[in-house]
Amino acid sequence: MSTTVREALAAARAQGVDRLDAQLLLAFHLHRPRAWLIAHDDQPVAAASISPYAADIARRADGVPLAYLLGEREFHGLRLQVTRDVLDPRPDTETLVDWALERLAAPSMPPTAEVVDLGTGSGAIALAIAHRHPTARVTATDLSPKALAVAQDNAQRLGLAVQWAEGAWWSALPGRRFHLAVSNPPYIRGDDPHLAALRHEPLLALTPGGDGLDALRAIVGGAPEALRPGGWLLLEHGWDQADAVQALLRGHGFDDVQTRADLAGRPRCTGGRRAAV
Ligand code: GLN
Repeated sequence: MSTTVREALAAARAQGVDRLDAQLLLAFHLHRPRAWLIAHDDQPVAAASISPYAADIARRADGVPLAYLLGEREFHGLRLQVTRDVLDPRPDTETLVDWALERLAAPSMPPTAEVVDLGTGSGAIALAIAHRHPTARVTATDLSPKALAVAQDNAQRLGLAVQWAEGAWWSALPGRRFHLAVSNPPYIRGDDPHLAALRHEPLLALTPGGDGLDALRAIVGGAPEALRPGGWLLLEHGWDQADAVQALLRGHGFDDVQTRADLAGRPRCTGGRRAAV
């Protein structure tokens, strides 16, 4: 007895997997577009595809991000390769990229602005900026050599030029000075129960432990030294951390401190300008 497309999708549903995720996984294993499934739901699923599909449905039901199963994720118009060595880039982080692109378009920015993405992971933010603002000189750092390898692969495949540096935050960039710095650092509290649901992603990318602010403190603390006068620092943070990040920025002499909302309307990104002297 062969399994039809409809039955394969129903089996996924019974395991609690979203219909869209199940369709994308089935389409992936059948090497068909998702639209084909919709028009052919009484067709048999090729026998060779059943067990790899079922294995991926079980992984998805266990909370493995869809991007790891498909091996890729679309971010800000770019198709990125994503592995377990990097955070699965979130659509909310596109808010930070849009803000960075706005800053780069400001008349005070030189076209060849020096930009850095601290803790780049898959390279998502750095590559999106390099793609949309090709005259910028983009550098990206990560503590994890495995993450940097994923990011470099992405850059090569997409034909985008980014300079890579391995190390913790600013210490990866001795003596460098930037017009714009962006980061989506680990910011989840060490005791946040939400971490259990994210257990398939690298812990290093999700939480610095403690109150969740240590990475943000390190980045803001080193920024006055590493930014040019009038340079901007834009940060992603937790939904309840905007006040703390605003206070950190003001405490380090930043002005024009502002917060922006994510796609769900929660305060998600805060940034400011290093006072021009
Ligand atoms: N936004 C992610 C989440 O809450 C966390 C990413 C991060 O810590 N930078 O699922």
